[in-house]
Amino acid sequence: MTAPPERSERPGLLAIAERILRTACGSRLRESFSLASLTSFRIGGPAAFYLEPQDDSDLRAVAEAVRASGIEWIVIGKGSNILVSDRGFDGLVVRLGKGFSWVARDGSRLWAGASLPLPRLAGVALAHSLAGLEFGIAIPASLGGAVRMNAGAHAHSMDEVVDAIELYSIPEAERAVLPAQTVGFRYRGSAIPDGSIVVGATVVLRAGDTAAIRREMDEARAWRRATQPLAEPNCGSVFKNPQGDHAARLIEAVDGKRLAVGGAAVSQKHSNFIVARPGARADDVLRLIGQLQDRVEARFGISLEPEVQLVGDFDVAPL
Ligand SMILES: Cc1cc2nc3c(=O)[nH]c(=O)nc-3n(C[C@H](O)[C@H](O)[C@H](O)COP(=O)(O)OP(=O)(O)OC[C@H]3O[C@@H](n4cnc5c(N)ncnc54)[C@H](O)[C@@H]3O)c2cc1C
Repeated sequence: MTAPPERSERPGLLAIAERILRTACGSRLRESFSLASLTSFRIGGPAAFYLEPQDDSDLRAVAEAVRASGIEWIVIGKGSNILVSDRGFDGLVVRLGKGFSWVARDGSRLWAGASLPLPRLAGVALAHSLAGLEFGIAIPASLGGAVRMNAGAHAHSMDEVVDAIELYSIPEAERAVLPAQTVGFRYRGSAIPDGSIVVGATVVLRAGDTAAIRREMDEARAWRRATQPLAEPNCGSVFKNPQGDHAARLIEAVDGKRLAVGGAAVSQKHSNFIVARPGARADDVLRLIGQLQDRVEARFGISLEPEVQLVGDFDVAPL
């Protein structure tokens, strides 16, 4: 990995990247673009540049801009697992556009573009009486984000159904298809390289009973309504569950439900969720995360690992 450019060099480098992206994508390249509304937390500052690539030619322009300028860049999906710094992101944020939202079927195999919402893919599975994706019906992810994070629920996860992943490598400026066994899936994560964008994936499902699949999906939705603070901005589970335990249990045991920092508060409905009340700042959330980690560490000697991904530079010490 190359070191990020010095701050004083940034304006010139951003200008180089802008020239290349502007030529390729015109006014679709947005400047000082607020990211808050693109995240489920609804907080955070702007991206210096924001682009929704619609096809491989847009991705080639991203690759060329990054190569020529060396600016920092990231890809986001539905923003349901990220905390964007109040200062935003001083580089290029890429979110795959509608051109990457498609789905096709061949028997029990579905393949889809990475910006397709995971619940939509699960809905297609239901429509074709295919079982295996019931767990994904209410995870508010894009397919790309779900693959990258190995999203899961109800004791199932993406690695059980994903067969192949199509990546666009920004350093190589080209696509590659990788078998799922080679991308290092682990609990709520994968070893997909930071420089690669998941542009599509294939899932292999099995013939099932439509009524049974629908029932399981209905139950999954009802369970979320009953147990998660869906009416308030949040990022899902803040911490990964430590082996053999539950982050929510540990947080409750240290009285975490009483904690709040500024507008960020531990949810009364689910103690592994932090909700962002009006006026909440990303720094509030990060401070609260730190307080919960400190309490659990002091009482149980367990270091809670955040599941939420941080975007940008924070004023609070890193986790
Ligand atoms: C109410 C609620 C409930 C949730 N429930 C669950 C749950 O049950 N199970 C679960 O696992 N998660 C859950 N989550 C968390 C979240 O939905 C998952 O982590 C999901 O996989 C994130 O997908 P995303 O598209 O929103 O990715 P983002 O949040 O946008 O990004 C997450 C990470 O993936 C990377 N990424 C995104 N798109 C791509 C891509 N195309 N290529 C490469 N990298 C990419 C980003 O760089 C970032 O590092 C929940 C969140 C909320 C708000």
